[in-house]
Amino acid sequence: MNKLPSPIHSLKDHYDVVVVGGGIVGAGIFRDLSLHGLHCLLIDKKDFTSQTSQSSSKMLHGGIRYLEKLDFSLVWEALHEKNLWLELAPHLCYESSFHFPIYKGFNKPLWMVKIGLSLYDFLSSYKNTPHKILSKKEVLNSIPSLNNENLTGAGLYYDAIVDDAKLTLEVIYDSLKEASGSQAFSHIELEKLEVQGIKNNLQLKDSLNSEVTKTISADDVIFSVGPFTDNLLSKFKDLKWDPVLSPSKGSHIWLRADALDIKGPLLLRTKDNRVFFVIPWPNAILVGTTETKVEGNFFNLSPTPDEVHYLIDNIKKYFPKIMLSEKDIISSFSGVRPLIKDSNSSELGEVKREHKVYQPKHNIHVIAGGKYTTFRTMGQEISRKIVLKKELSYNSNMTKQKLRQKSCILPFKEDEITADTIFNIIEKENVRTFDDLLKRRIGCPSPRHWNKKTSLVDLFKPIYPELKNVLYFSDEDKKLLEVESDVNH
Ligand SMILES: Cc1cc2nc3c(=O)[nH]c(=O)nc-3n(C[C@H](O)[C@H](O)[C@H](O)COP(=O)(O)OP(=O)(O)OC[C@H]3O[C@@H](n4cnc5c(N)ncnc54)[C@H](O)[C@@H]3O)c2cc1C
Repeated sequence: MNKLPSPIHSLKDHYDVVVVGGGIVGAGIFRDLSLHGLHCLLIDKKDFTSQTSQSSSKMLHGGIRYLEKLDFSLVWEALHEKNLWLELAPHLCYESSFHFPIYKGFNKPLWMVKIGLSLYDFLSSYKNTPHKILSKKEVLNSIPSLNNENLTGAGLYYDAIVDDAKLTLEVIYDSLKEASGSQAFSHIELEKLEVQGIKNNLQLKDSLNSEVTKTISADDVIFSVGPFTDNLLSKFKDLKWDPVLSPSKGSHIWLRADALDIKGPLLLRTKDNRVFFVIPWPNAILVGTTETKVEGNFFNLSPTPDEVHYLIDNIKKYFPKIMLSEKDIISSFSGVRPLIKDSNSSELGEVKREHKVYQPKHNIHVIAGGKYTTFRTMGQEISRKIVLKKELSYNSNMTKQKLRQKSCILPFKEDEITADTIFNIIEKENVRTFDDLLKRRIGCPSPRHWNKKTSLVDLFKPIYPELKNVLYFSDEDKKLLEVESDVNH
């Protein structure tokens, strides 16, 4: 296939810093260092933000359930970051109320929920829209189909909904303004790492075209590969890496938008006393999540039938009159939480959501754990260290500026997507695969999410000959476009 030249040909021979892993954590550190004037390279083995950072519950939140674990500093930090991003990227996230219905027999009665939500507002320095406690009648007015048996009322509090993939991409673009000496390329894999005194040699390979390789050097290397940390770092013998993660899989389903009669997000308790979210989006309802131990290869996981049943069963308990079934599912996805091992907790749900920074060599930095919401502050410890080493001054507020560049297509809107807009996205956003174009840039998790009159296939078929010159297609995507039959004719 006649693709655009591999980005490996555009790489410089040397960078101040190479960041390996373009999920939200790598994107945040890359932006921080680039805004401080360092020449950085961000690489990802797959598409940027194609793993955990597009598989979250899509909330910027303080984490109301961490209050139960008395993790006040994490909640304080996450609430402040949530409220900051509502100001910095109002086109990618918005505040929303969440109903938390309470039933007789719950281990947290309504009065205790009142105390918890008051503390939540306090920890936001009262920047949160204040919570309310609703009577049973008020809850049923808002959610008429909710199970009313033993319902005592609800807590109503405020968090934010975010397009997780788009925010990560825009954080990356923001680092690439004209004067920046930084570059970011997807589908570039780190094959070999040699630590030689103060310099690191990195052998890179184009993972879409394995014949293209290049060796570059960097003063510092940062690994921000989330759940892939142990698998990747164990490959580099020089680092003598001991595994640090306790990975936990979480799955979500997208239901048809009319499957439930709800206007806003709900926080609900599962039968096994976890919490899960039901969040209406413009074209579908997001339900999740599960929590199970996982081992092995974490790329592109999908939910098991048991996980899907678990989610459907738990929703049915709250909406007994609605005939919900697996037929109402439009699509589903899974991600792996990069949790740090915690010798004090045997249950995954109990493991703290903290992040940790490691330095296996003096110019190799590793970051793992944490939450999407706190990505900006998580990486600051590493950025500060590297910026000071360069004898520059470190400004922790540098990343509090609004994002300057926007994606070509914004989320939360039913934009008209035409052939022109598609080529505009490809040109301006360094897209390399059709999957990336569809899922993250256009925001269509699967063709079944497409709600417009013209079908996706009708839109893409006429421009396929041009698209195949610039993008890589998986076999599945080719099938979607019925390319095989076209090519044969
Ligand atoms: C089910 C679920 C729900 C969640 N919900 C929320 C939520 O609502 N709010 C919240 O704040 N947090 C949430 N989280 C947590 C949050 O999503 C993660 O903490 C965060 O996305 C992790 O980002 P990351 O950049 O560390 O990892 P990732 O996004 O996984 O990024 C790591 C990147 O490294 C790349 N990579 C791997 N190996 C290599 C290699 N060899 N070379 C180059 N690149 C490589 C991968 O391709 C990937 O893009 C949720 C997590 C899960 C799993």
